[in-house]
Parts: sequence; C-alpha cells; structure tokens
Amino acid sequence: MFNRRNFLQSSLLGSFGIVLGRKNFAGEDPCPLTQDNPIVISTWDAGLEANKAAWKILGSGGRALDAVESGVMVTEASRNCCVGLWANPDRDGFVTLDASIMDENFNCGSVAFLERIKHPISVARRVMEKTPHVLLVGAGAQEFAVAEGFPLEPQKLSDDAEKNYKEWLKKSEYKPVINIENSKSNAYHAPKKINGEWNHDTIGMVAMDTKGNLSGSCTTSGMAFKMRGRVGDSPIIGAGLFVDNEVGAATSTGQGEDVIRICGTHTVVEFMRQGLSPEQACKKAVERVIRAKGSAAKEIQVAFLALNKKGETGAYAIQKGFSYALRNNKEEKLVVSKSHFS
Ligand code: ASP
Repeated sequence: MFNRRNFLQSSLLGSFGIVLGRKNFAGEDPCPLTQDNPIVISTWDAGLEANKAAWKILGSGGRALDAVESGVMVTEASRNCCVGLWANPDRDGFVTLDASIMDENFNCGSVAFLERIKHPISVARRVMEKTPHVLLVGAGAQEFAVAEGFPLEPQKLSDDAEKNYKEWLKKSEYKPVINIENSKSNAYHAPKKINGEWNHDTIGMVAMDTKGNLSGSCTTSGMAFKMRGRVGDSPIIGAGLFVDNEVGAATSTGQGEDVIRICGTHTVVEFMRQGLSPEQACKKAVERVIRAKGSAAKEIQVAFLALNKKGETGAYAIQKGFSYALRNNKEEKLVVSKSHFS
C-alpha cells in the first residue's frame, strides 16, 4: 500500500541519499538528487502491478537492479497472457522468451529464444553476473538456466494461447496487431481483465534508487506467431533497453525489428545526453523510426519510455494507445503517452 508511513520512510531514505551523496563508477557525482527519487516506470497497464513489487525494494532503500528484476518477475509469472510462459507461441506452436537487464555500471545480461523457463529476467541477470558474456540464446541459454537451478517447465501452451494459436492457424498470416500488449479487442486476445491487468506481451521497466543509481529490465514473449528463432529488440542492449548512469535509462515496446534498426533505446539515451527531456528524446527516436519506415510507419507501433538522472520521465509512441505506469514517493499512476499519429 502507498501510505503516509511509506511516504515518510521513503522521503527519509531519499534525504539519507542526499546526505550520503552518490558517486558513479568513475567516482564523479553526475547530478544532484531530486525529491522524485526513488522512482520506477514501466510499460503498459500491467506496469502498475509490476511497479508495486519494484517499489517494495526501492521504497525501503534497496537497489534499482533488484527492483527492476523483482518488478518484471510479477508480469512473467502472471497468468494473464502474454509475458512469460502463458504467452502466445511462435508459428510452430512454441513459446520462446527474450529478456535483458542492465545496471548502473554498464553491466548487462540477456537471453533470447529461451524455452520452458518461467523467469527469463533472472536468467539474464545470472548471465550478467556469472558469465563473461552478455547474451545467451536458445538451447545454450536453457542449459545455463538449468545448471543455475532454474526448473524446466512443461512444454505446454496455456488454454488461451492454445485457442489463439488454433484460430491463427486457420489463416497462418503473420500480421502484428498494434497495441496488442494492451488490447481489449483483437482476434487473438479475447477482451479480459484478470487481477486488474490487461493483456500484454512485453514489459520494460527502468528505475532510480535512493542512491540515484539507475537500472532497467525488459522481458517478452516477442511477437505472437513469429518465425521460429525470431528475436526481437527486448534482449538487445541498446535496442530494447539501455542504461547510462550519468544520463538516464530507456526501454521500448512494439515492433522490435524497427527498434533494432535505429538502436532505439541507445538513441533515446544519447538524445537525453544532448539535453533533451525524456519525452523529447523519445519523440526524436520515434521520428527516426518513422523516417526509416516511410509510409509503412502507419501500420506499426513502436513506443519508447525514458527516465533521466533528475527523476524526470517521458514517453512517445508512433500510435496512440500506449501508456506507462509510474511510481515514486508522491504518486502511483498510469500516464498516457503522446503519439505521432492521433
Ligand atoms: N518489442 C517486442 C518484440 O518485438 C514486442 C512487444 O513489445 O510487444 O519482441
């Protein structure tokens, strides 16, 4: 619960952070703390639930890295498709998952084309912390996960995914649905709301802790009915997720191929480095996607979400309908993003 006690506790911790100061890994103090830190933001309506879990850590002075992992684990475990194992499958009928995580010191880890593992985000963190690599894929990623003690879940579609897949097989046409992550009415997701969450198939989260350190996470089942082996932007550092502790952090959702094309979240962070606000930076990156796509941009959704070192947040999308969840010491809310097309 967001109550006065938590508020006071968090405020005190925030002040504590100010007293202690917070040097980055290079020993510099990048910018002053603001009253808005700690803060967590995440994509789509499902972010509200995920932020609650992240806030348990942030609000008691914990590390942003732990918060962004715990936050998106809620979404991965949710039976309300579609992040995680209850998601829609690829065109061969298998659920394959992508995830990435990045901390305040440019440490990062990711997994892609991972099957039968409930929490890809935690495997991504292990890749970051326990291997000399950044990205593990497919059978290798799964072997690593099992060796690390993650249970191998049964290879079985959820009832919803099974139904969606059978419906899809009738035409077998790959046609991504705009805003499927929040869709309340489309062919493959019957309108439904479970535990206050709408359907979604990606969550990206970025956060700043009381020390002023930033981290981010992103986890997805990717595009429904994709080709087998397809990997999207979410596990690609600089595409679906990027964190530079001196500047800010960004994540993305939507058609991953078009985020990868422009190194989306790295681009957003670089625009913030040039002095743009998070919203302006996301808008410029969206405009770059649109320039790359030409008239085809009308048919796709891409959205960016960003947080800077001052605790300011912003988003921008190609199409309307994108929203993000925000939680800080003062409020817990859903913010509707501006978009290029209205
Ligand atoms: N960006 C994800 C992907 O392309 C999908 C999504 O955001 O819904 O895999």
